[in-house]
Amino acid sequence: ARDLRLPPADFAPEVPDNLIGDPSRLRQIVVNLVSNAIKFTEEGEIEVRVLKESELDGAVVLRFSVRDTGIGIPPETQKVIFDPFTQASASTARLYHGTGLGLAIATQLVELMQGRIWVESEVGKGSTFFFTAQMRVDPDRSSRRLPEEASILKGVPVLVIDDNATSRSMLTEMLKNLGMKPQAVMGGHLGLSALNHTNEEGEPFRAILLDTVVPGVEAPQLVKQITQNPKWSHCRVIPLLAPGSGETAAASLGDSIEAFLTKPVSERELVKALTTALKDSGPPSADGGEKERDSKRKKEAPSYNILLAEDNLLNQKLAVRLLEREGHRVTVVNNGRQAVEAVEKGSYDFVLMDVQMPEMDGLQATAAIRERESMTGGHVPIVAMTAHALKGDREKCLMAGMDAYVSKPFKPGDLFEVISNLSLRSESKENG
Ligand code: ADP
Repeated sequence: ARDLRLPPADFAPEVPDNLIGDPSRLRQIVVNLVSNAIKFTEEGEIEVRVLKESELDGAVVLRFSVRDTGIGIPPETQKVIFDPFTQASASTARLYHGTGLGLAIATQLVELMQGRIWVESEVGKGSTFFFTAQMRVDPDRSSRRLPEEASILKGVPVLVIDDNATSRSMLTEMLKNLGMKPQAVMGGHLGLSALNHTNEEGEPFRAILLDTVVPGVEAPQLVKQITQNPKWSHCRVIPLLAPGSGETAAASLGDSIEAFLTKPVSERELVKALTTALKDSGPPSADGGEKERDSKRKKEAPSYNILLAEDNLLNQKLAVRLLEREGHRVTVVNNGRQAVEAVEKGSYDFVLMDVQMPEMDGLQATAAIRERESMTGGHVPIVAMTAHALKGDREKCLMAGMDAYVSKPFKPGDLFEVISNLSLRSESKENG
């Protein structure tokens, strides 16, 4: 029996996915190299990796490698195997069968993609075949390039609880691609015992992706069990919701939920949810400094009366929790129209305004508030919140009369900075 591992292909984080190329050629080359690797490897593993070699003027050169732990190829043979009808030796040809054409065809296909193909090998240790291929960046689609904050996910142990095998393996693969250490189990009871036993390397799990329809245990129950156990207080639960169930379902799972995912999960959403959930949860041993900074912040920061205009329930909860933790008072409204009314009636130190809202969006509401102020002479600072930090958004917000800008989900630090800048500004206005 052969003992051969074939892990999923490993894409370096810098490899974009908005590329235009020739998938069928690419597939043919990779299939050729992988099938050779399987053919000439008795045991060990075959690893496929992709990284970005260069990028210039919209042209990306990717470098693929297929590494095996097989019989290897002697140096004199390495030079000729890319020629048609060459096989390493008459005896290997007899032993393994083959046409001697596979690598010649791969060479031609690689040339069609402005690439090179080569091999590094040691007899008895294994071979690595490399090839490069040039592709164009699709200007109409954005890349899967990971945001900078995804770096905090590297090496973080994460537990997946999901009864669906396909979903488990897809999530595991995605988490591995993010450099995380995933472990997947199929039900709630297994999940709890996995939590008890930490991961295979003895590290505690810091996040759980929890399918909310796991057999055996009710999801809200499970969430409660995990989040209320002080032993697991450093572990964040991210519910995996059925398509269409939305934020109300997530909110019903309790206050501890800071992010949720809807199936099927995209990598971008996964990164966003994980970075949101893990942002201010350091490893359990190293949180002393964090706490100190927190309390310092509390002492220095003044307390504000804040109006929050936000239609998304979960975002409302998140923002309110963050702000109240900093000692502020928050009034919540659900759309732009209510925001305009609230500003007219109440007196707020500043407004946190979602840009996309039903009825009246944040830009319209801001314009309306500014128009009234032009008659009364006031100026309430308005901080825009948008989900996507696109370049044009910032300009639009400032044009509409907003004073500052944070992108959602905001980190406590971001908001704190914006707030203190705002209060500095209004103070200096008074002074000057
Ligand atoms: P074939 O159809 O004979 O496999 P290829 O052109 O694909 O033709 O390969 C040519 C020769 O190169 C093979 O017969 C084999 O001797 C050698 N070779 C290719 N890939 C490997 C590998 N991964 N490990 C060892 N030898 C290899």
